[in-house]
Amino acid sequence: MAALSGTSAIVVSLALDGRPATGGPDDEAIAEAYRRWRAGAPRAEVARALGNTLPRLTKQLRSGESVLEPRRLMGRDLRERFGWTTSAQSLYVRKGLLPTPDGVDGTSRWWWESTVDGWEQVAELHWCGRCRHAFISVVGLKEHRTRLHG
Ligand SMILES: [Zn+2]
Repeated sequence: MAALSGTSAIVVSLALDGRPATGGPDDEAIAEAYRRWRAGAPRAEVARALGNTLPRLTKQLRSGESVLEPRRLMGRDLRERFGWTTSAQSLYVRKGLLPTPDGVDGTSRWWWESTVDGWEQVAELHWCGRCRHAFISVVGLKEHRTRLHG
């Protein structure tokens, strides 16, 4: 890990409470996994580079034991962030209103967090103050207000 300290974005495998971090990937494997992650490789490939399996890596990412940075946002992350329903999101995708995904992992599109941050800055979203749902058009917000809060 020491070889990577100072990099702004790293692939980290944290030791569990009190357990020595032995048997984990070495610095070289971590650097390779990080290179692949940055290049947009699917998570399965990153897991392989770490000598890990995808189900185990997924579990470690969920528990916070492992962290892959910079973050990739999946559709559900966008729905959470902008308060969108699945159908609202599908509509935005069909209309081409969302930023172009940075990659596809299996069947899931994903975006670097910075892509979504940049998009949000220029998109001029209209937020419903009552339910924290972001609308791309002011008309959409008005219709929503009438329908749900009218
Ligand atoms: Zn609302």
